[in-house]
Amino acid sequence: MIYDASLEELLQRVWDGQRIDQADALRLYGLPLEELAALADRRRRLARANAYEGRGNQIVTYIVDRNINYTNVCNVYCKFCAFYRVAGDDDAYVITIASSARSTASRATTTPT
Ligand code: SF4
Repeated sequence: MIYDASLEELLQRVWDGQRIDQADALRLYGLPLEELAALADRRRRLARANAYEGRGNQIVTYIVDRNINYTNVCNVYCKFCAFYRVAGDDDAYVITIASSARSTASRATTTPT
């Protein structure tokens, strides 16, 4: 392996929390995944250090993401799909915006699963 002083300098800048440009960011993609992950974790820790009155790295937060299937009616007919129904099928459904909003609101206060 050939020693690359400019890469060492780049890694140090990332480690220190300095900004890098697009070309430098592209160079990071050549790193082994474990090294890139370690740098990403370092940057995350630096970014969180001052959050929550200095407890940012001790607090874990979550985002609740929902994909609402407002209908199961589809006209693509993918061969692997067991979800789709054809319009007029007994179990075809289309939910209203109001119904979707009610469902989302009722789940907004529940614990993520
Ligand atoms: S996966 Fe199913 S629902 Fe999605 S496009 Fe294909 S047939 Fe339609």
